[in-house]
Amino acid sequence: MKYVDPQDIDNLPGRRIGTDDTFNFRCHPDIGCFNRCCRNLNLFLYPYDVIRLKNRLELTSEEFLDRYVDIVLRDSVFFPDVLLSMSDNGERTCPFLRDSGCSVYRDRPDACRTFPMEQGTFYNARTKKNESVYFFRPPEFCMGRHEDTQWTAKTWTLDQEAVIYNKMTLLWSDLRRLFQKDPWHGQGPKGTRGKMAFMAIYNMDGFRKFIFESTFLRRYKVKSALLKKLRTDDVALMKFGFEWVGFYLWGLRGRNIRPR
Ligand code: SF4
Ligand code: SF4
Repeated sequence: MKYVDPQDIDNLPGRRIGTDDTFNFRCHPDIGCFNRCCRNLNLFLYPYDVIRLKNRLELTSEEFLDRYVDIVLRDSVFFPDVLLSMSDNGERTCPFLRDSGCSVYRDRPDACRTFPMEQGTFYNARTKKNESVYFFRPPEFCMGRHEDTQWTAKTWTLDQEAVIYNKMTLLWSDLRRLFQKDPWHGQGPKGTRGKMAFMAIYNMDGFRKFIFESTFLRRYKVKSALLKKLRTDDVALMKFGFEWVGFYLWGLRGRNIRPR
């Protein structure tokens, strides 16, 4: 997912796929380039990706983040990027790549599902919402684009079971946009505020402990039905975490958190 300036949309690399536009693509194990794309990647992991992968691998969030993730802070954005660490071998292969293909296929990240399209988001000042745009951007070596099967952005997204992923990524981009301004009060992202925000966004097991084992519930009121959900449902917890970060860093009042 890339943040796109609406004025630049038509100048970005790749072909923009409008609602009715089609592209040709098919990927299969007999194609000459099979698995070539799963190496040497800057593969962004979004909060929902991490939930799916850590649950798939039966790891805690901390274990997953320790083993599989590079956290990169870039100039101009005040929240770090979370990237899947490539293996330390000559080809820098994805750690989940096997000869037979992707070993986490059913839980592969949003970027892998959407590929060879790329999802961008831009802020629509009229609707006051983030919206998605799609670009068709296979690398030169990807032979799948010479196949006959035809897709639209919608049919491809449905076929790859990416609807929920794209939705969750858009939700994250609503919060992420706020990090274009420095929210750290001079502490930087490694200070207390930064650690809290990162935990509530990416570390669901740590955040759950914080909610249920700290003074949080003495300080904030959360409806009992939601609380019950937060004990076991990582996605509900992630959404709650987004709301908490909005409140904690910027004082934004959501529906579910009330100071006592
Ligand atoms: S390069 Fe393209 S066609 Fe080849 S395996 Fe990757 S996605 Fe499939
Ligand atoms: S997660 Fe799977 S699809 Fe994505 S790069 Fe790794 S092996 Fe390829």
